[in-house]
Amino acid sequence: MPIATTNPATGQVLKTYDPMSDEQIDAAIERSDLAFRELHRTTVAQRARWMNAAADLLDAERDDTARLMTTEMGKTYAAAKAEVTKCATACRFYAANAERMLADELADAGAVKAKRAFVRYQPLGPVLAVMPWNFPLWQVIRFAAPALMAGNTGLLKHASNVPQTALYLEDVLRRAGFPEGAFTTLLVGSDAVDRILSDPRVRAATLTGSEGAGRSIAQIAGRELKKTVLELGGSDPFVVMPSADLDRAAEVATTARCQNNGQSCIAAKRFIVHTDVFDAFADKFAANMAALKVGDPMDESTDVGPLASEHGRGEVDAQVRDAIDQGATVLCGGEQPAGDGWYYPPTVVTDLTPQMRMWSEEVFGPVAGLYRVASYEEAIEVANGTKFGLGSNAWTTDPAEQERFATDLDAGNVFLNGMTTSFPELPFGGVRNSGYGRELSAVGMREFCNTKTVWIG
Ligand code: NAP
Repeated sequence: MPIATTNPATGQVLKTYDPMSDEQIDAAIERSDLAFRELHRTTVAQRARWMNAAADLLDAERDDTARLMTTEMGKTYAAAKAEVTKCATACRFYAANAERMLADELADAGAVKAKRAFVRYQPLGPVLAVMPWNFPLWQVIRFAAPALMAGNTGLLKHASNVPQTALYLEDVLRRAGFPEGAFTTLLVGSDAVDRILSDPRVRAATLTGSEGAGRSIAQIAGRELKKTVLELGGSDPFVVMPSADLDRAAEVATTARCQNNGQSCIAAKRFIVHTDVFDAFADKFAANMAALKVGDPMDESTDVGPLASEHGRGEVDAQVRDAIDQGATVLCGGEQPAGDGWYYPPTVVTDLTPQMRMWSEEVFGPVAGLYRVASYEEAIEVANGTKFGLGSNAWTTDPAEQERFATDLDAGNVFLNGMTTSFPELPFGGVRNSGYGRELSAVGMREFCNTKTVWIG
């Protein structure tokens, strides 16, 4: 994949970059290693001052940064502005809470026959972050804010279609005061990842991306015995039970499916509805989806902009065509429009069967699969009937049923009567083929720490 900015709204290539040479990569890793020696000796309070300065810069530069993101990957300008604000909030959260999260934890000295025993959290060193384009600022900050606060340094290999956002991230953290080399953007293709992760100076890696990229990085890390966190794909269920508030569920379902132009790992993708309310929900949901305005992502009235790449749109259309060819019913959308830009209409497809691609694959665009089920048990069977386990949603006002969903949904996140989202205060991640490890909260920060046991006799 060329490293380039191509506007998805027009298909125009705006800027291209040569990938860094092996010598440049080597020098960047060296700077990162040197910066680590400096950074991990700084106090948490010092790092917090830099992190708060980064938050202030993000806020001050929000509109220009949002415009850049929209130009590179097509999300609506409104969504891009919200993403920048979310990043500033996460930076402030880690600045305020890192001291507490990294504090020594005393153990029961008597029980372990010590005068004193405790757990100390210390940084690992340079961490490679391989990141996707869909939330080009947020995916990086949710790694970088806790990792830098813990005293690690970061080496970013961002997706090849968001190079300017990648360069901005390095720039903003440097201007905030972090030492040279503390956070470095490597303009490289995915073919350079093996070389970087095999370097002994690089201590760990985090990847947010597809299953295929996850397998590849896990193989390299396994060979090199390095810690990894993998945030991979998802095909989140959204279950609607008879007691649900149907208007609210249909409204949130529409947002949950079409946020970020349908390109979110935690977008609800499979809508599993109890037969007692299926027809009523389907009518409301399809009407909401059909009413969304598709168009120029810079226009403030647009709900759904273009998909990020021509290839991505082609995949979504092929998945829908495959379902239609095998007998699925389209309730709205389903036709790829002619003209410039990689637009795809909000689409609802029902009467799906296990032979269809949509049944088992992640659909990375504004396309919903709608399933009818006759009972709670069948809802759980369909909801858990994929290889993924990232987010999940269920709508029910029955407290006993809420408890059952919380236990029975096989996913890293369960959201009841709301859509899956991420908060700095709560761990985020998946199970099964959606990956392993967690980001955010203290759990995420400690993924890239040495959890050191200290025993004093
Ligand atoms: P992708 O193709 O896997 O790309 C993600 C990153 O991995 C990019 O930087 C890419 O570089 C790199 N990459 C690709 N193949 C690689 C390989 N074999 N070895 C090393 N690096 C490799 O994914 P995407 O299409 O950009 O993003 C969509 C996927 O990400 C979806 O499956 C989505 O669900 C998932 N995602 C998950 C989360 C989560 O938190 N769990 C969040 C967002 C997205 P190039 O750009 O240079 O190819």
